[in-house]
Amino acid sequence: MEKVTAYCMKCRDKAGSIMENAKEVPFNRKGGTKGSAMTGTCSVCGTKMFKILGKKK
Ligand SMILES: [Zn+2]
Repeated sequence: MEKVTAYCMKCRDKAGSIMENAKEVPFNRKGGTKGSAMTGTCSVCGTKMFKILGKKK
């Protein structure tokens, strides 16, 4: 599976950390539009990560 990277609040690595067990979840954006997000855990410290994805193509 493709590696997903996200900014980790704990590691504070601007380059991003690899998200483990990443899965896509529905996400309600402001204004009522639906989008999607990824959730998973940081491969470095195990903190929960959340990444908002752009609109689906
Ligand atoms: Zn981390």
